Amino acid sequence: MSTWILGKVLNIRHWTNQLFSITINAKIDTFIAGQFSKIGIKINNKIIQRAYSHLNAPNNPNLEFYITKVTSGTLTNLLHTLQIGDTIMISKQSYGQFILDKIPNHSNYLWMIATGTGISPYLSILESFDKRLYLFLKIILIHATRYSKNLNYLPKMTELQKAYNGKLLIQTILSREYSFNSMYGYIPTLIENNTLEKKIGLYLNNNSYVMLCGNPQMITDTKKILKKKYNMKNHSHKNTGNIIQERYW
Ligand SMILES: Cc1cc2nc3c(=O)[nH]c(=O)nc-3n(C[C@H](O)[C@H](O)[C@H](O)COP(=O)(O)OP(=O)(O)OC[C@H]3O[C@@H](n4cnc5c(N)ncnc54)[C@H](O)[C@@H]3O)c2cc1C
Repeated sequence: MSTWILGKVLNIRHWTNQLFSITINAKIDTFIAGQFSKIGIKINNKIIQRAYSHLNAPNNPNLEFYITKVTSGTLTNLLHTLQIGDTIMISKQSYGQFILDKIPNHSNYLWMIATGTGISPYLSILESFDKRLYLFLKIILIHATRYSKNLNYLPKMTELQKAYNGKLLIQTILSREYSFNSMYGYIPTLIENNTLEKKIGLYLNNNSYVMLCGNPQMITDTKKILKKKYNMKNHSHKNTGNIIQERYW
């Protein structure tokens, strides 16, 4: 059972009709980069609650969440109408195992693969500048969206790329639009036909570690290809593997 506290909306930014970010001020417990909080709104004495990944680093008191308004969605349609100064409910604790602690530190390459708002936990992890990140030879951050107008955190990705001084490689992928600056296609297909690795200039191998976040179909399909090509499987406390995942629905 979550302990709920009240948070105040400090900012809400509508990037497109469906994508928005909210910044909340709330005295939650310290979280680990990669974790999520629950956000809720009380209606008729019942809390409607869903999970949202932290986007900001743990040392930043402004809690930022990047959210897709799901057309038929219950909570996101309510969150979408929030205004600066409104109050919402947020879990005091944060949760989840999509964190650096789960990744064996002998991995050479860390692949962070996201669709849509699934970019959030990676931004939080990278913004934490955790010293374990510097143990990887390279970190590859991949953000796939339908259209270039959905790449709202590309400036932040570019800023991080500079800050990591050659350690961090970034790549965007669009699935519904061609653009000079992005690859085109579906992540699992681009891995299957080697296009993604060729473009990055690095190949996945048994010393790579892959994080997958966002669309559950992308996660299922990518895992199938990673198993077929490289015999990669999930990493858990019982079995050593190369993949961890955060399915958003
Ligand atoms: C660990 C975790 C972290 C998450 N972090 C984020 C986050 O940072 N940002 C974010 O936007 N969402 C995130 N989600 C998804 C979020 O918890 C909700 O499921 C989502 O916002 C929809 O809520 P809703 O009440 O509007 O829709 P609901 O009424 O709960 O759902 C309607 C249906 O929409 C589908 N659906 C849910 N999300 C999506 C989506 N993004 N695109 C298409 N279909 C969808 C589901 O199949 C669901 O049956 C996360 C989920 C998990 C499990």
